[in-house]
Amino acid sequence: MTREVRIFGGGLAGLALGIALRQRDIPATVHEALAYPRHRVCGEFLCGLDPAVAEALGLSAWLAERATVHHSVAWFRRGRRVFEHALPQPVAGVSRFALDGFLAGRFAALGGSLVVGARADLARAGEGDVVAAGSPPGPKPRWLGLKQHVRGLLPHADLEMHLGNRAYAGVSRVEENVWNVCGLFDPSHIRRAGGGLVGALERAELGALAAAVRAAQPVEGTLASCTLPRFGPRPQTMPFGGGIAVGDRSSMIPPFTGHGMAMALERGAAAAEPLARWAAESTDWETVRHAVSDDVEGRFRRRTRIACALHPALLHPIGATLLALIGRARLLPIRHLYQLTHS
Ligand SMILES: Cc1cc2nc3c(=O)[nH]c(=O)nc-3n(C[C@H](O)[C@H](O)[C@H](O)COP(=O)(O)OP(=O)(O)OC[C@H]3O[C@@H](n4cnc5c(N)ncnc54)[C@H](O)[C@@H]3O)c2cc1C
Repeated sequence: MTREVRIFGGGLAGLALGIALRQRDIPATVHEALAYPRHRVCGEFLCGLDPAVAEALGLSAWLAERATVHHSVAWFRRGRRVFEHALPQPVAGVSRFALDGFLAGRFAALGGSLVVGARADLARAGEGDVVAAGSPPGPKPRWLGLKQHVRGLLPHADLEMHLGNRAYAGVSRVEENVWNVCGLFDPSHIRRAGGGLVGALERAELGALAAAVRAAQPVEGTLASCTLPRFGPRPQTMPFGGGIAVGDRSSMIPPFTGHGMAMALERGAAAAEPLARWAAESTDWETVRHAVSDDVEGRFRRRTRIACALHPALLHPIGATLLALIGRARLLPIRHLYQLTHS
């Protein structure tokens, strides 16, 4: 008899795991709180995904057809373009609306069972349950994420990073004439609420970008927000029982890397191997828990810690000014920094 794996959370990690389990003929159910397709807070540039994982998940051909390919990124400091550099690898610009929808369809087509529109009780997760429910909001949110798609934006490059005051925002083209504008803000710093994405950009001293977004046409239904705790590995004592955590629920790399989606897909897909052994009754749950948290999740800890160490420099006025100066002088070791935070 083959045991069933239940996955709580149908984002990238949960769906990648579900697909990889179904490819091994393991019964799998994904419980997702929302429905598909839906917009999610994300910069929507997919950076550093292992081509073998993309191929195994059926994503390579789909991305080649659907995604916008970015080759360079332009950096701005308070509205002024400070430097531009080539990306060490091409980056895919793709909306979460399309990506999550595609993966959900693929999981269902492989015979996976998808239960949508009901929030699972994570505290009851136990043997056979995987928690892929993304970052927990936590009692005291550390970050606020906001995103919106707009048409008619006139950006300077197809991928832009704007550094503000205790905030940054990415602008990336995700479809023909559709740009995603997504910002990360320190809620204690922008204080006053209201005004949506434009208001938050203005308060974070990203006035030029705010004006450009105000002048563009918002795509209806694409505004999304979220709150997040600190980045980095989560404490080992999870607020749920015997389940196994994957993806952002286990640890989250800061968004400026554009690597969180790739990591979620790779971690979800990699967790299928030890879980398949449990499903076939050839190992016990505790062994699988350790295999996932040490071997699978462990592979991503170093890059996450390095990105967490670099993150404050982007947000602090002195750090951001220094970055702009070094970047303009072409002295930033881009390839080295990319390697440290993406492998
Ligand atoms: C502001 C911001 C910008 C970002 N920009 C980028 C970027 O440009 N590139 C990049 O690669 N990464 C980016 N990321 C990171 C990326 O979005 C995440 O790393 C990735 O989505 C993690 O995938 P996941 O599957 O772990 O979690 P998620 O994608 O968050 O999925 C979790 C799922 O679980 C569901 N869920 C939650 N609770 C329950 C429950 N109780 N029951 C059932 N379902 C539940 C949610 O509805 C959700 O669908 C960004 C993140 C933020 C916050």
